[in-house]
Amino acid sequence: MPETRENYIDGEWVSTETNETIDVTNPANPSEVVAQYQQSSTEDATRAVDAAVDAKAEWANTPGPERGTILREAATLLDERKAQLTDLLVAEEGKARSEASGEVQRAVDIFYYFATKAADLGGTVKGSSAPDTNLYTRKESVGVAALITPWNYPIAIPAWKLAPALAAGNAVVIKPASLAPGVVVEIATALDEAGLPDGVLNVVTGPGSEVGSEFVQNEGTDAVSFTGSSQVGEMVYEQATDAGKRVQTELGGKNPTVVAESADPAEAADIVSAGGFGTTGQSCTACSRAIVHEAVYDDFVDELVDRAESTDIGPGDDHEMGPQVSADELDSTLEYIDVAQNEGATLAAGGGVPEGDAVDSGYFVEPTVFTDVDPDMRIAQEEVFGPVIAVIRVSGFEEGLEVANDVPYGLSASIVTDDHSQANRFVEDAQAGVVKINEKTTGLELHVPFGGFKRSSSETWREQGDAGLEFYTIEKTVYDNY
Ligand code: NAD
Repeated sequence: MPETRENYIDGEWVSTETNETIDVTNPANPSEVVAQYQQSSTEDATRAVDAAVDAKAEWANTPGPERGTILREAATLLDERKAQLTDLLVAEEGKARSEASGEVQRAVDIFYYFATKAADLGGTVKGSSAPDTNLYTRKESVGVAALITPWNYPIAIPAWKLAPALAAGNAVVIKPASLAPGVVVEIATALDEAGLPDGVLNVVTGPGSEVGSEFVQNEGTDAVSFTGSSQVGEMVYEQATDAGKRVQTELGGKNPTVVAESADPAEAADIVSAGGFGTTGQSCTACSRAIVHEAVYDDFVDELVDRAESTDIGPGDDHEMGPQVSADELDSTLEYIDVAQNEGATLAAGGGVPEGDAVDSGYFVEPTVFTDVDPDMRIAQEEVFGPVIAVIRVSGFEEGLEVANDVPYGLSASIVTDDHSQANRFVEDAQAGVVKINEKTTGLELHVPFGGFKRSSSETWREQGDAGLEFYTIEKTVYDNY
């Protein structure tokens, strides 16, 4: 019998009032139920918000270093449980083991990072124009933060919202994605054991349309941080701003790598395939467009096809590329592959479901390369969220830049070039929140801001590093005439 995990509300592990559960299955072997989680209702979400509202003042008044000590203790517990968390991530999300363990390590590092930051929230002292007056600012928590997260980085994304929110003294309600909620339950377990006071963190699993929606609309929440699709995120943004809340949304992408005339085709193919096929293409920053100068186009395509065809596909336990997370995600990728062919793109590699014992029952798809892609085709404009790379031929740097920017998204963009001034032009003109030179579009450092342009983000606040803390704090200016 798979284990049934409960919600964490007001420091207690509790079942939903309806007693309904959701099965989470292994995408590499869908007949295996990994665990069951609560299929919570709006009422459960309301109880969680009420608990957070009750707990917020005490936590806000807890000295920052003391909050940091609890976060550090939780980081240590997560660190000790790395192997178990990695297993859970592989089983629920399907990631390759190396990717899963890297993500778990990231979450541990994030908790350590913000544990230190909790003692150092900042504030400034200024000279006053009046005599005998202290003039300074102090940073305070915003109140109750509602966090809504996707399935594709099930531990890193919750960690990079939760740790700064708690470090800054906010109470939190969080709803993880229903496809892979286990690692968030484990974070709550660690924080509970580390001594987090009751009600400061509340985890409720269940449908976004009920639990997520209640978190966004309940008047007890003061700030909403959402990561997920542009469709849902844009609706959440409207609801939260209509209710006068602080809101941050991080959404979809259609990330390009420009391969310049000076690029080494093999190095460029390494960069593009790592960005496009890594995490089975299920990263918001995944490379899904290679915009390639005609001088290196043929050699680059040969190299990229070679990378696609030699990818070792199978269950994440011991293969390089795992399955898609669900039957719906697999169907959506296969549909885009059909659309691309109908639009006239040339299928140069992959395009189907692999065969063999290891991949018989899971949601596996072949790494896929399309060439002769026109920049206006749907495959070049819409987020696919699978391991599919559209290769677009251009005849110069300016054209490459224009094609790179000509999409509704702007999350990550990279260029492979030996030309230093071209690289810097790209940095200046690429419409993306993350710009990389001679690097894959994926992969982020935890202490620098992250966020997108255009439909990739609400552009209101950035996540991660000091910028990540800003969202969870509000500044007060004090005039103290002694
Ligand atoms: P999704 O939008 O379907 O779901 C995200 C979360 O929102 C889930 O927890 C879901 O239950 C919840 N939700 C659904 N309906 C809701 C509603 N009405 N109100 C409130 N919450 C609701 O996204 P997904 O499929 O889980 O994730 C994949 C998407 O996330 C991709 O588009 C990807 O690009 C994006 N993403 C973006 C970033 C980033 O930082 N920009 C990072 C990772 C993933």
